[in-house]
Amino acid sequence: MSPSQTFTARLVCSVPLSEFTKHLEFDMLGVKRFSFVAGQWLSFRQPKPDGEEITRAYSICSPPVDTNRFALCLNRVQDGFMSNFLCGMKEGEEVSLQGPFGDFILRPPMRDTIFIATGTGIAPFRSMLQWLFADEAQHQGKQLWLLFGNRYERDIYYHDEFMRLAGRHSNFHYSPTLSRPDEEWQGLRGYVQQHLTEIAQGRSDVHAYICGLDKMVEANRELLKSLGWDRRSIRYEKYD
Ligand SMILES: Cc1cc2nc3c(=O)[nH]c(=O)nc-3n(C[C@H](O)[C@H](O)[C@H](O)COP(=O)(O)OP(=O)(O)OC[C@H]3O[C@@H](n4cnc5c(N)ncnc54)[C@H](O)[C@@H]3O)c2cc1C
Repeated sequence: MSPSQTFTARLVCSVPLSEFTKHLEFDMLGVKRFSFVAGQWLSFRQPKPDGEEITRAYSICSPPVDTNRFALCLNRVQDGFMSNFLCGMKEGEEVSLQGPFGDFILRPPMRDTIFIATGTGIAPFRSMLQWLFADEAQHQGKQLWLLFGNRYERDIYYHDEFMRLAGRHSNFHYSPTLSRPDEEWQGLRGYVQQHLTEIAQGRSDVHAYICGLDKMVEANRELLKSLGWDRRSIRYEKYD
């Protein structure tokens, strides 16, 4: 399978995750098994009504499995074309795409790892974490932290899933943090970078992966560098 090949994918499942965000599952047509590495993205292509062809990248949020199915975690961007087109698709409709692309993937050897995401930046980490915890040989008992920032509790995508994963694996430390929590919220408050020092300080031989919008990615990279981290231990993917 070549990444430059154009595929057609059919939407088989569309689930709202919040007011503006959806979990979408697609079947890749014409292939038995769609191969990719957890963390990679796909390039979706769609003509606008005026004929202009638009392409946009979306991270795969499901783990690689032995089927032709994959999933996206997609946020509607105000006045954006592709995000609204995909979120507006009905089950059974089809779309063109190319891929998989990208090297935002787990770098061997496996180390203790901090995953830092905001919003739909969770997508590649859901793929990686589901893949890692599918087999002990993949996570090797390493300590894995997920620091996940959102505004409101209702926006914590896949919250129950990550809670269950943390309940089953003592080496998985799940820390959602809210920038606009209500009074009842018992968890962390504030931005992800306000909680990163606690996890990252004094640790060596740890990898960090950061995914989300440019401002958040840069704030966390700068913080890790100020803690003396080697920049080669920090990998990131920016969505804007
Ligand atoms: C490698 C990669 C992976 C990505 N994976 C995902 C993913 O898994 N889920 C997801 O929802 N998005 C993801 N994105 C973002 C996505 O590619 C689009 O940029 C986004 O959906 C907007 O596209 P659009 O055509 O709807 O809007 P556009 O017409 O491109 O943009 C409309 C307006 O919104 C601003 N804007 C652009 N992107 C964003 C954004 N992400 N958030 C807020 N404002 C924005 C633009 O500056 C512009 O003003 C990813 C981006 C990259 C580079």
